[in-house]
Amino acid sequence: KKYVYLFQEGNADLKNLLGGKGANLAEMTNAGLPVPPGFTISTEACNEYYNAGKVFTDEMNRQAMDALAALEQQVGKKLGDIDNPLLVSVRSGSVFSMPGMMDTVLNLGLNDQTVNGLAKKTNNPRFAYDSYRRFIQMFSGVVLNVDHYHFEHVIDHVKEQKGITEDTQMTAEDWQTVIAEYKVIVKKQTGEDFPQEPMDQLKKATIAVFDSWNNQRAIIYRRVHKIPDHLGTAVNIQSMVFGNMGDDCGTGVAFTRNPSTGEKLLYGEYLINAQGEDVVAGTRTPQPIVTLQQVMPEVFDQFVAICNRLESHYRDIQDIEFTIEGGKLYILQTRNGKRTAHAAVKIAYDFVIEGILTKEEALLRVDPSQLDQILHRRIDPNAKQDVIAKGLPASPGAASGKAIFDADLADKLANEGQKVMLVRPETTPDDIHGILAAQGILTSRGGMTSHAAVVARGMGKPAICGCEEIKIDLKSNSFTVNGITVKEGDIISIDGGTGRVMLGEVKLIDPVLSDEFVKLLGWADEIRDLGVRTNADNPEDSKKAREFGAEGIGLCRTEHMFMASDRVPIVQSMILAENEEERLVALEKLLPMQQEDFEGIFREMAGLPVTIRLLDPPLHEFLPHLEDLVVEITKLQMNPNADARVLHEKEILLRKVRGLTEFNPMLGHRGCRLGVVYPEIYEMQARAIFQAACKLAAEGIVVIPEVMIPLVGHVNELSLMRKLVEDTAKQVFEELGQEIEYKVGTMIEVPRAAITADEIATEADFFSFGTNDLTQTTFGFSRDDAEGKFLHYYVDNKVLPENPFAVLDEQGVGKLVDLAVKLGRGTKPGLKTGICGEHGGEKQSIEFCYRTGLDYVSCSPFRVPIARLAAAHATI
Ligand code: ADP
Ligand code: MG
Ligand code: MG
Repeated sequence: KKYVYLFQEGNADLKNLLGGKGANLAEMTNAGLPVPPGFTISTEACNEYYNAGKVFTDEMNRQAMDALAALEQQVGKKLGDIDNPLLVSVRSGSVFSMPGMMDTVLNLGLNDQTVNGLAKKTNNPRFAYDSYRRFIQMFSGVVLNVDHYHFEHVIDHVKEQKGITEDTQMTAEDWQTVIAEYKVIVKKQTGEDFPQEPMDQLKKATIAVFDSWNNQRAIIYRRVHKIPDHLGTAVNIQSMVFGNMGDDCGTGVAFTRNPSTGEKLLYGEYLINAQGEDVVAGTRTPQPIVTLQQVMPEVFDQFVAICNRLESHYRDIQDIEFTIEGGKLYILQTRNGKRTAHAAVKIAYDFVIEGILTKEEALLRVDPSQLDQILHRRIDPNAKQDVIAKGLPASPGAASGKAIFDADLADKLANEGQKVMLVRPETTPDDIHGILAAQGILTSRGGMTSHAAVVARGMGKPAICGCEEIKIDLKSNSFTVNGITVKEGDIISIDGGTGRVMLGEVKLIDPVLSDEFVKLLGWADEIRDLGVRTNADNPEDSKKAREFGAEGIGLCRTEHMFMASDRVPIVQSMILAENEEERLVALEKLLPMQQEDFEGIFREMAGLPVTIRLLDPPLHEFLPHLEDLVVEITKLQMNPNADARVLHEKEILLRKVRGLTEFNPMLGHRGCRLGVVYPEIYEMQARAIFQAACKLAAEGIVVIPEVMIPLVGHVNELSLMRKLVEDTAKQVFEELGQEIEYKVGTMIEVPRAAITADEIATEADFFSFGTNDLTQTTFGFSRDDAEGKFLHYYVDNKVLPENPFAVLDEQGVGKLVDLAVKLGRGTKPGLKTGICGEHGGEKQSIEFCYRTGLDYVSCSPFRVPIARLAAAHATI
């Protein structure tokens, strides 16, 4: 088997075998770029080394020796030759770049004799001894496991004695002093002399690089970036070039474009008279790359030409390492540069304009999940931050405001024009007005898909959830964390992208949809065949979503409209009504309000479909909490001056709340079960929808309402509700002398609905998969409990591959979706289907929706651009 490849034998396609670094060194060699010659020991060798119980086999060694002989021939120097020694670097290189995680040794081949030969041959003793001391330190660290800090003070000590401060001021003799001391340290730490035999050095270094695949930081890096552990690393053995021979030498790193903004400008740094690690080590401050133009104009021009060549060859922004020896340029590494979302968008766009990429290719270069970074207000990266706690990064973006612990107060202060941050142990639908009013939300309980998180993401509002470190005291309206107390009105800031809570105000910058981004999304629209709608409950969100490219509303939740502070009392009296008559009085009052809501939304979505879900949550969510009521009543009872009538009313309320309290509200009296038992509620909502639609139609606005019945499990539920909607529509049309086309459909969110989708389709014009509930009911998980209590353990310990509330579970929930689509379309060919859970804005789930043949996905306004891009990815 072939374990070893000379650079001229490889190419970029052999990345799996040669690692990224080795494959690209080979590719550049064959393209005629100035790459110091060398060879690569393959990742296969590494894996066999591990499989054999860490044995570098004779066969591997033989092949490496052959390659070394070829290398020596090529450069006309020999490893260990006393007069003209070959020096090499031994470099790690895995398939996916893991910058700085594994080890590299430079200047290998030096010993007490060859160093003198090198000094004589180059006529530069200072350089030779500088190289030797670097080698001893690196080799000792990587191969002999002598900690870096043992060597740290030696150089400083010498400098002090000589009264100098810079490495460049060190003479050959000074470096010799350092070397002597280094050798003493090695002897003391390892019990042996520093290895003098170059062949022995080479073999040890090779094995050490293999071993560095499993050092702690490499293991952690792989876990974080989901890189498989079995890939192994290649080892590159390359003849050295020297940036440390004098002032016509240097070393540096550059990106072909700015990796932070994407601007088409060379971006990087270099150091004169330096080697490899010096640039990143921070001991000397590197110079910006542009200044090289003055210092070495010819080298600079040549470098720019090579950068351009590499970029068009790899058709991506390159991150390039180079060294200059005696005024001659060498390229030591190139790889695709890591970049921010901003840069990714700009670069992808520019590459199309420059004719380097097709639109499809460019779209694939931008990771949809990365776009979160640019769609929200963010903290000015240069701002000072005083971090006091960390929670779950539940909704990206950043915000500052006064800490307020009560939704009503938050609402009130915001109306007065103040910026507030809502801080709660957790939020409920009751807090919606507070959330709406706040700049951001901070909760001490609840997971990434807790109420606060879902709602905040829907609004594009920053949120941190489950920040358990902070101890909230609602009696004193304050929280404490690590001895710091934040009182009501104190200003705090949150970064929902990182989960950091900060004291005081932090400077924010607005998100900008750059021209490039808008155009790129336009290309995504040309390519994709999956529709993208939005989840929006009000005109503002509808407008925002439309700006972001939504093609209609896939889910308009009507319960949020019941939460506005002027409506809660009416909603409550509707719930508390003892009979239908009383209930109708309350509904009568709600009707014009609901109608107005729908008018606003229809207006913003003129010409586009609007799917409206009739009331879904259990009614007790609109009433006060049981515990709070009990406390209030007890207080009233103990107060001799209390108003007896008030007390009586509260007691009635308590009875009602008790009656509505459910053991498991998620599976309780909600969804269409409300509509079936209290048809007048759904009737009022349907009336509001059709009256609004007719009114706008009379103004000449095109309205496309789609009425959606939630939580259907049996076809009979849907047929009842469908009839109710149709009857109402007919009545309204007659009353107003106007007709409108509309659809009636259902959500598929319990397993029985999916399994009997063929029957349900007889009564449905469309299906919308409510995958949040469908995930809950399929797994039998209650979401809030699962995320708070065991789901993170499941994911951490790989019981589940992912959180199924974040990424759709294809094998289970997805199977039901697929089945329902097939059954539904069996009954009604071409039945329209969509998805409206949180999953509608997540790229893997969107890909699934496309494969399953859904017509559209629906997601919160701020995720619409992400979904457009992800839908294009799915199609390509
Ligand atoms: P990493 O993967 O951590 O970047 P590298 O193997 O790229 O490690 O080595 C780090 C640095 O060492 C390179 O950027 C380069 O400056 C220097 N280096 C590596 N090999 C050579 C060589 N053959 N000649 C000169 N410098 C080298
Ligand atoms: Mg490198
Ligand atoms: Mg639901």
